[in-house]
Amino acid sequence: MSWSFETDNDFQEQLNWIDTFTREEIEPLDLLFRGPGDPWDPESPAAAAMAPLRAIVKEKRLWACHIGPELGGEGYGQVNLGLMNEILGRSRFGPSVFGCQAPDSGNAEILAHFGTDHQKKKYLQPLLDGNIASCYSMTEPQAGSDPAQFTCQAVRQGDEWVINGEKWFASHARFSEFLLVMVVTDTEVPIHRGASIILVEKNTPGMDIMRNSAVGPYAEQGDGVHGYIRFTNCRVPADHLLGNEGEGFLVAQTRLGGGRVHHAMRTVGVLQKAMDMMCERVLSRTTKGELLATKQMTQDKISDCYTQILQYRLHVLYTAWLIDKHKEYNREVRKEIAAIKAATPKVLQDVIYRAMQLHGSIGVSDETPLMTMWANIPELGMVDGPSEVHKVTVARTVLREYEAAPGLFPSYHTQTQRDLAMKKYGHLLPNEE
Ligand SMILES: Cc1cc2nc3c(=O)[nH]c(=O)nc-3n(C[C@H](O)[C@H](O)[C@H](O)COP(=O)(O)OP(=O)(O)OC[C@H]3O[C@@H](n4cnc5c(N)ncnc54)[C@H](O)[C@@H]3O)c2cc1C
Repeated sequence: MSWSFETDNDFQEQLNWIDTFTREEIEPLDLLFRGPGDPWDPESPAAAAMAPLRAIVKEKRLWACHIGPELGGEGYGQVNLGLMNEILGRSRFGPSVFGCQAPDSGNAEILAHFGTDHQKKKYLQPLLDGNIASCYSMTEPQAGSDPAQFTCQAVRQGDEWVINGEKWFASHARFSEFLLVMVVTDTEVPIHRGASIILVEKNTPGMDIMRNSAVGPYAEQGDGVHGYIRFTNCRVPADHLLGNEGEGFLVAQTRLGGGRVHHAMRTVGVLQKAMDMMCERVLSRTTKGELLATKQMTQDKISDCYTQILQYRLHVLYTAWLIDKHKEYNREVRKEIAAIKAATPKVLQDVIYRAMQLHGSIGVSDETPLMTMWANIPELGMVDGPSEVHKVTVARTVLREYEAAPGLFPSYHTQTQRDLAMKKYGHLLPNEE
């Protein structure tokens, strides 16, 4: 029996513990610490509140579970990670309390694969321990989803790289100890062979954060965590190049594949939380003499939400299972990751909208988490690349498995097929006299 939808008993016990711990100890943080960088910024007031919770998680051996045993992680695999993340997704603080928060989780993977011993000691260990934050900076003000338009350039001069250009929406740059910056190192070749990733330490002269943009309802203008950065003759040592020169996109793949699937896993948690709220509400509210839950139009919404969440959840877990099976982000895996990435905003939009609608006025107020969930939807259609680009990946990979019709009519043309069927089985037909 090679297909199974069951969780090991031992791991289920851990999941039960994570569920209770998240609801009782972590979710209250969301109500009190609402600053845009609170879950990630080691200097935020929330850090002190998270510290004892992190200690408990470490003691339980559930810390940084995305990291393999070679780096001191538990190596639970992506399916188990998916089951964990869908619980942690209930809270903005869940991933940070469990040491698997983006973008640090992906950046740690890059450092683990490509960092020098010195960089690993200086940055990887503190990052894995949750003591510092990090940033991944690729998008530029004039170009996000089209890397061919990237212009931020690094030129080798002696033992140094000299960086000039601008970066945009570099999350957490303002409190990060280091940034992994995608730069053009060869302008003569296509960008996928001419870009590299360079580690830039905080406070390196020549790197200036010009402003920080905010997303959603968390911050006043200017108080965001997404940095607009300018590099002006910013010099970094030559060995800060991660991976080979010109292989920046290969290096980036190390983090983006995992990052996207983890976002999707956490989205399952958000969806389930919205569903829980919706179900409690319709069982609590009456109108025209009966419970909302008994109205067929309510049942239509509940049923659609249940089905959509289950379909999405199984797709996410299937993708996680594929990663565990192949142990790499091959084409098959990348297709599924792109598909769930593209599906994410739509399922959120459908489920959260229905939940808000069924809650009435309180559903659109600031007195439930629904409006915050709603405000985050466009973000998930954009972060790590817009849905359209992921749909292109899915469609291209799917179409690779097909060929054009051999002749004028389709290969499934009924008349042609019937003629072939006649040749094969026609002698068995009863004679029509
Ligand atoms: C919350 C948040 C955090 C982020 N954090 C980071 C970060 O830490 N580091 C970082 O480098 N970047 C980060 N980004 C930036 C993100 O990667 C970009 O927003 C994304 O790649 C899109 O780039 P863009 O914003 O320049 O939009 P554009 O590239 O201008 O695209 C705009 C729109 O054009 C359409 N479009 C684009 N390409 C296609 C296509 N091929 N076919 C059809 N339509 C298309 C889509 O509708 C798309 O939404 C973050 C973004 C958000 C929202």
